[in-house]
Amino acid sequence: THFGFEKVKESEKEHKVHKVFENVAQDYDVMNDAMSLGIHRIWKDYFMCSLSPTHNTKLLDVAGGTGDIAFRFIDYVKTENLRNCHVTVTDINANMLEVGKIRSTTLKHDPNQIAWQEGNAEHLPFKDNSFNAYTIAFGIRNCTHIDKVLEEAYRVLQPGGRFMCLEFSQLENAAAQWAYDQYSFQVIPVLGQLIAGEWKAYQYLVESIRQFPNQESFKQMIEEAGFRQVTYENLTLGVVAIHSGFKL
Ligand code: SAM
Repeated sequence: THFGFEKVKESEKEHKVHKVFENVAQDYDVMNDAMSLGIHRIWKDYFMCSLSPTHNTKLLDVAGGTGDIAFRFIDYVKTENLRNCHVTVTDINANMLEVGKIRSTTLKHDPNQIAWQEGNAEHLPFKDNSFNAYTIAFGIRNCTHIDKVLEEAYRVLQPGGRFMCLEFSQLENAAAQWAYDQYSFQVIPVLGQLIAGEWKAYQYLVESIRQFPNQESFKQMIEEAGFRQVTYENLTLGVVAIHSGFKL
């Protein structure tokens, strides 16, 4: 690739992705804080504010992991006194969902407001037109076929429904990208080793960030899946971006 990495073979990629999250499901929250210096919390808060759910929001949070996005949704709904809202968390890894369920019980969430369903973003186990909002945060990068994920998002959304993605992206500025690369390649694998005992897995995560399409290319892919009014916003100089689109 233009970043000088060999493209990871697909089967190998799937295997690696699965292994990474199985091994670290428990340490996952600690790692997120350590790697992003806690900033992932701000990005996720901002992401939920951008979605700004309303009454009757039926959200599907894909690659939802241990529930970080779903829990923000539940908090938002509570704070804003929204009626008739529900979130379904889906993830390919049952271990992540198990950790999420435990967290949700501890937080005393209404079990009628949240559902957990194991599933692959590329073949969602839901009927057409089932939801009016779809979120995927730090998840699409790990999927083998981004186009299939987008196609599935489009299928399960109702007309008028909104797609929103929070994902690592590319920095606006070359000097900042250089500094960020130093951090990514030199600090992340070390933290991965120290906290999770997984040097290679975290090296892979850094590479997967580099291989993900940039803001404009990803926007185009979302449009190709049929979404309209597709926009994006950079956070932290483009370290991450929020893409949004509507099924009209
Ligand atoms: N959205 C959560 C968050 O922001 O904290 C979790 C993000 S975590 C970095 C990525 C998640 O994607 C993992 O839980 C992993 O199991 C899941 N994942 C990877 N490939 C997937 C796929 N094809 N379908 C569904 N989930 C997938």
